[in-house]
Amino acid sequence: FWEVSYNIAHVMHFIPVSISSAAAVRHIQDLLDEPTRGADRAGAPDLPRITNDITFDRVTFQYEGSQTPVLDNLSLKLNVGRSIAVVGPSGSGKSTLLNLILRLYVPDEGRVTIDGVDIRKVTLGSLRQSMAVVFQENMLFNMSIRENIRLGKEGATDAEVEEAAKKAEIHRYIMSLPQKYDTPVGERGDTLSGGQRQRIAIARAIIRNPSVLLLDEATSALDQTTEAAINRTLLKVAKGRTMIWSTHRLTSVVEMDEIIVISGGRAIERGSHAELLAKNGAYRKLWDDQLHQPHGAARQVDDDDSD
Ligand code: ATP
Repeated sequence: FWEVSYNIAHVMHFIPVSISSAAAVRHIQDLLDEPTRGADRAGAPDLPRITNDITFDRVTFQYEGSQTPVLDNLSLKLNVGRSIAVVGPSGSGKSTLLNLILRLYVPDEGRVTIDGVDIRKVTLGSLRQSMAVVFQENMLFNMSIRENIRLGKEGATDAEVEEAAKKAEIHRYIMSLPQKYDTPVGERGDTLSGGQRQRIAIARAIIRNPSVLLLDEATSALDQTTEAAINRTLLKVAKGRTMIWSTHRLTSVVEMDEIIVISGGRAIERGSHAELLAKNGAYRKLWDDQLHQPHGAARQVDDDDSD
């Protein structure tokens, strides 16, 4: 039924869009360890352009070796064209939700569908083609800024690279460097600030012109000023796309169209920030708890280069 053909080419296909240090190693290892996962069914069609929704239809999912399901009979409809935040306590399954949309894992029960089609029935390449991912830590390779951005889209022209950098609001900064787009980023991108690395990762994602932009704690490691600046950029680049943002930092979600609270393997609340605060439920509690916490780890401050 499933073809056992998950080869290195498939894995490489995914590396450029997503891969991030620790998570990357885990994901690549996961992919390699489970050769059947992600294999296309014989004659599987490509996924057409997404027009309506990504839906979790009674999805139950448990990681191998763990005692309890992370997602437990979860039903959830995510409408396209919206900015959607997925929030919840640590370990509640926010990243797992993204993993299932990317078909890094498949549900034990239930289905994930796009426009009504089970994503297991379409080619993995076409599914991933429609998406881009930005993680908290995104692997930058020791080559030029241009090449790092181009990893998002094989064969992209210099003009496309610059266009993506403009959208990620890092173009002006790049142009201020003596070697401009040819500047080497150094080992693991260590010549750049955390915010600049994140903007390169956003450019790498956006060059794919994805219908769906997935963000996994994309700004959680940044200081408050940088986080706010990059959040503004992300809301701009998400226009006309579907943005699904898993985060525990609620300051990032206030302006999003919709917020979904995951807890106990299910979606327990959804609505706008104002609606959920007024509900006085789980979201309100997360919000109040966060107000009383010191802000997360600070790194270097940078600002966007938009006008
Ligand atoms: P956080 O906010 O801490 O990032 P999260 O809500 O994103 O958490 P997930 O990363 O989806 O949660 O993890 C949900 C649960 O599944 C956790 O208990 C986690 O330890 C476990 N888990 C995550 N990835 C794996 C894996 N590859 N193998 C086994 N268990 C895993």
